[in-house]
Amino acid sequence: MNLPILMYHRISPQPDPGSDLTVTPGAFQTQLRYLREHGYASITLEHLARACRGEARLPRRSVVITFDDAYASLLEHAHPLLTRSGYTATVFAVAQALGRHNFWDDGKGVPRETCLGRAELAALQGQGWEIGSHGLSHANLAGLAPEALRRETADSRSLLEEALQSPVNVFAYPFGSWDAAARAAVAQAGYAAACAISPGTRSVTADLFALRRVYVKPTDSNGDFARKLSGWYLAYRALKRR
Ligand SMILES: [Zn+2]
Repeated sequence: MNLPILMYHRISPQPDPGSDLTVTPGAFQTQLRYLREHGYASITLEHLARACRGEARLPRRSVVITFDDAYASLLEHAHPLLTRSGYTATVFAVAQALGRHNFWDDGKGVPRETCLGRAELAALQGQGWEIGSHGLSHANLAGLAPEALRRETADSRSLLEEALQSPVNVFAYPFGSWDAAARAAVAQAGYAAACAISPGTRSVTADLFALRRVYVKPTDSNGDFARKLSGWYLAYRALKRR
């Protein structure tokens, strides 16, 4: 199945020199307007996973809007625009970073930013947003030892479930990085689906534990965004990677 699973990190008017992770609120608003005008409905990854298993139907034009790292600035800059557009999103939180900051970037010259806390994530969930795990410590899972893999996948899930007092069923690989052992650990931990970035699958949903996402970049023009949503682009990406 080919549908756009959009990947964002930070929505902020503050530029983020040298990184591809910050989209301005203005560009984000234009992108949401495009989605609305073209009849897209936002769905959760859990809904998508059920549809892939034949247990649910999807709206005619579906989009999944995802945010990695659960930055607190989402509440200020993305949440109001999404709400006004009638959309919900999926937020991937680092279990050890709730209410803290992006400690995994310390010393890398990346701006320090506060991460959403437990109450804020629970409030989003109450509004129909989906909260997923982005690992325990944002470790790169590829090549990790089995015990560390278990902690990053299973323990992050139980920690988030305890914090939110509700099930956490989806995962996103930090840095989009995974291997066969990481994929197996995510499945073993009981998640329904996991997001990668460019797993090289033949379709977006060919592997529910390595879903392909569309990386929305700060440099994308309106035309680039429209192109990245097209069925042609989603299928072509698959061909290119095969
Ligand atoms: Zn991340």
